[in-house]
Amino acid sequence: MHFANVNGRFALLTATGAIDVATASHGGLPSDPQAAFGMWDAVRAWAARGEGPAVAFDPSHLGPPVPCPRQVFGVGMNYRRHAAEAGIEIPEYPAIFTKFPTSIAPPDAVVVLPSDRVDWEVELVVVVGREARAVPEPDGWSYVAGLTVGQDLSERTVQLRPPVPQFSLGKSFPGFGPIGPGIVTPDEFGDPDDLEIYCTLNGVEVQRARTSELIFPVPRLISELSAVLPLLPGDLIFTGTPSGIGAARRPQQFLRPGDELLSTIEGIGTIRTSLVGADELVQPGRSR
Ligand code: ZN
Repeated sequence: MHFANVNGRFALLTATGAIDVATASHGGLPSDPQAAFGMWDAVRAWAARGEGPAVAFDPSHLGPPVPCPRQVFGVGMNYRRHAAEAGIEIPEYPAIFTKFPTSIAPPDAVVVLPSDRVDWEVELVVVVGREARAVPEPDGWSYVAGLTVGQDLSERTVQLRPPVPQFSLGKSFPGFGPIGPGIVTPDEFGDPDDLEIYCTLNGVEVQRARTSELIFPVPRLISELSAVLPLLPGDLIFTGTPSGIGAARRPQQFLRPGDELLSTIEGIGTIRTSLVGADELVQPGRSR
């Protein structure tokens, strides 16, 4: 099943368009895309029947499929080649940070560059579907509502600023967490642990990998996080980026005004992120 946020309303996507879930369920299910994750079993049961008129929609009207998560986690150094390019040994436990929820942005976002040291990180993003506490790793996928594409945009100066690295701040400027275009339930994939993921900058490929290369795959992340705190319906986990980031290039390369990132995951889709200078008159993180 594919779901999306169409004009701020929770929708089931079909081959012919979008079904407005609240309308088609006669108010039995919420119109608020965030609230839908709080009753995910009911959403899935209804969507399995898929009744209702599907209406064509303009992709520019897609909002973030998870607009206001309570918790947003990030994982550092979760691909072997990315750990290698950063000069880090393969870790024994995942390196967890948070992206503050105000950084979440739509799939077609215009993002203001706060400096000349902003980097790209295409990532598989997990949406939590039910409360998770102390989940054993083999059960991890059963807590996942769906998968989406994300960019973990990162301002490297703030991220690495002494006295200790400030990952959560450096990755939480407005618009630094664009996600979308929709979310796809795990059962849609032949193997949800092995998806092609890639990113282009101005049409030039800068990152490509498969999620089977994750050091800590999705079920392990669910297990490690839920061992410490409850994961809540609608929470997001940015699972880490493959190699090919700008900071690891020689010479280093960072995003500039006018740049366009396309971030894609097999079976989910593509998000487009347009970067502009701080002097350009747009609202950060908003669609055009
Ligand atoms: Zn990242």
